[in-house]
Amino acid sequence: MTFYSATIGGTPVAGETNFAVINPATGEPAGYAPNMGAVELDRAVAAARAAFPEWSAHSDEDLQRICSAVISRIEEHAGELANIITLEQGKPLNGLGSRWEMGGAVAWAGYTTGLSLPVKVLQDNEQGRVELHRKPIGVVGSITPWNFPVMIAIWHVMPALRTGNTVVIKPSPLTPLSTLRLVEIMNEVLPPGVLNVVIADDKGFNLGAAMAAHPGIDKIVFTGSSATGQKVMQSAASNMKRLTLELGGNDAGIVLPDADPKAIAEGLFWGAFINNGQTCAALKRLYVHDSIHDAVCEALVDYASNIPVGNGMDETSIIGPVQNAMQFDKVASLVADARKRGKVLLGGEPGDGLFYPLTIISGLNNGDPLVDEEQFGPALPIIRYFDVDEAIALANDSPNGLGGSVWSSDTAAAKVVASRMACGSVWINKHGAIQPNAPFGGIKASGLGVEFAEEGLQEYTNIQVVFA
Ligand code: NAD
Repeated sequence: MTFYSATIGGTPVAGETNFAVINPATGEPAGYAPNMGAVELDRAVAAARAAFPEWSAHSDEDLQRICSAVISRIEEHAGELANIITLEQGKPLNGLGSRWEMGGAVAWAGYTTGLSLPVKVLQDNEQGRVELHRKPIGVVGSITPWNFPVMIAIWHVMPALRTGNTVVIKPSPLTPLSTLRLVEIMNEVLPPGVLNVVIADDKGFNLGAAMAAHPGIDKIVFTGSSATGQKVMQSAASNMKRLTLELGGNDAGIVLPDADPKAIAEGLFWGAFINNGQTCAALKRLYVHDSIHDAVCEALVDYASNIPVGNGMDETSIIGPVQNAMQFDKVASLVADARKRGKVLLGGEPGDGLFYPLTIISGLNNGDPLVDEEQFGPALPIIRYFDVDEAIALANDSPNGLGGSVWSSDTAAAKVVASRMACGSVWINKHGAIQPNAPFGGIKASGLGVEFAEEGLQEYTNIQVVFA
C-alpha cells in the first residue's frame, strides 16, 4: 500500500501519522495520506512566502516557459494520475472519467499558460500617461473538493503560478492522493517553495479553516459547498484576503414545447449525470413542458437504462460509485422522500456499498427537497410546467445561481428565455459545457468571482495604476 508525501519547500514530507483514503468502489484503502497540522501549514506558508520574491520577478516569457515545462511533465504522468483519481474518487478510467479529467486538466493548463495580462494604457496625452499594471498578489491558498480533484487543482494553481504568485494547496481529505502526487510531479520542474501541498483528515484540526484565517496567505481560491464558502469569507476578513469562491449549484434546465425529446435525451443525461451527478454545474432540476413531458421522460429513461454502472477500474464502466458515505446518505434520503411525493421512472433504491443506481423521478415540484436542495449525486427530479413564465420563475426561485439551460429547436427563442435565467452560465441544448476561454462563476450563493479566461486570470492579480 502506498504512503503518499506532502511537499513543502520542494521537499517531500512524510506524515508522522497517516490516514487511509478509501476507494469508494471497494471500501478498501486506496493509499495513505499524511495527517498534518498547524506546524506544517506554517512551514508551507513560510516556504511560499520565501519563494515569492524570485518567482514574481520572472518575466512573463519565463513564467510561460516554466509553466509549459510543468505541463509537459504532467502530461507524461497523465495515465498514472488517472489511475489514482479512479482509485480514490471512484469515477471510471473510461468515458467522461479520470482519463478525460486529466485531458481537461492539461488543456486548461495549456490555455491558461498562453494567456497574458499586458499593461493597459488608460491615457497617453499632454496631461500625462496613465498605465494599468497587473501585479501578483502574493501567497495563494487553494482549497479543493473531492469531485474533480486534479482538474480543480489545476484550475486554481495554474493561473496563480502563471501570474507570479506562489501557492499552498490543500485537497479534500476524501481525495488527496492525486493532488499529493500532482504537486510532487510539478515540483520536479518548479523552484522550491513555489508550490506546496498540505493535508489533514479534517477530523480534529480543520486545516482549511486554518488556511482561511492564516495571516501569511494573501488570497484564497476555494471550490466547495456554499456553507463552507461562507465560513471562508468570514475568516478571510482578518487580513482582507482576496477571494475567489466557486460554490454549490442547483442548476435548472427548461425544456420548451418545441424541443425534440429523442434528440435532446443524450445531452440531458450527461448534463445531469456527468461524474455521477457530483458536478457543481450539473443539471439538478429539469422543468419540462406538459405537451412533451411524457416523451422527454421516456427518451431520458431509455438513454439512462443503457449506461453501465460499476467499479471504475473496469473498462466497461461508464459511471462509478458515489464518492463517500455522507454524499450517498444525502442522495438516499432525498430520493426516499421523493419516492413518496412523485413517480420513480428509473432506479430509486440504494445499491450495494456506495453504488447508487441512476435515478429519475417525475411528478415533483418546487418545495420538494429533491428539487430545492443540491443532491450532488445520481438522482434527477423532473417537474412538469404549463407556461414558460412559470418555468422561469420556478427555475429562478433558488438561493443558488451557478448554471442553467434551455432546450429547444429554436435557438433564438431559447436565447430569450436563457437571458431571463438568474445564473452565471447558461447553455442552449447542452448543460455544464465549460471551457477554458469562457469565464465561469456563480451568482447569489453560488460564489464570488470567476475562473478561466482573461477574467479568471485577473483574479490572481492586484491592480497598480502608474501615473507619469
Ligand atoms: P466542502 O465545502 O465540504 O469541502 C471543500 C473543501 O473545503 C475541502 O477541501 C474541505 O476539507 C475544506 N474545508 C472544510 N471545512 C472548511 C473550513 N471551515 N474552512 C475552509 N475549508 C474547509 O465541499 P465538498 O463536499 O468537498 O464538495 C462538494 C461541493 O462543492 C458541492 O456543493 C459542489 O456544488 C461544490 N462545487 C462547486 C464547484 C464550482 O465550481 N462552483 C465545483 C465543484 C464543486
